[in-house]
Amino acid sequence: MEQRKVLVAGGNLLQAHTWKGMLEASGIEVELRGEALMGGVGELPVDAQSVQLWVLDSQLDQAQQALAALQVEQPQWQCVQCHEYNDASFELCWNCSAERCESHHG
Ligand SMILES: [Zn+2]
Repeated sequence: MEQRKVLVAGGNLLQAHTWKGMLEASGIEVELRGEALMGGVGELPVDAQSVQLWVLDSQLDQAQQALAALQVEQPQWQCVQCHEYNDASFELCWNCSAERCESHHG
């Protein structure tokens, strides 16, 4: 059995899912782990503290490069209301559903 390494730890669950999907689209096998995933059925906490993305040891370098590329292509934006960071693919804040605002608004 191949060893796995932690690629990312501590992100929010929605972002982890976004990254997982993008990495898997690049042919990288990703496993999502975290205490939140073992919680009660039907309850999906979005502010999970301990979400982790695990990748195969042999794909760690590839995954890190892919993730770095994603973050360059899609810089995060900060919510003007609650100051949470959001993935560039989100049009609304994941935390408070505020609309994304241009930072150079005045
Ligand atoms: Zn917000």
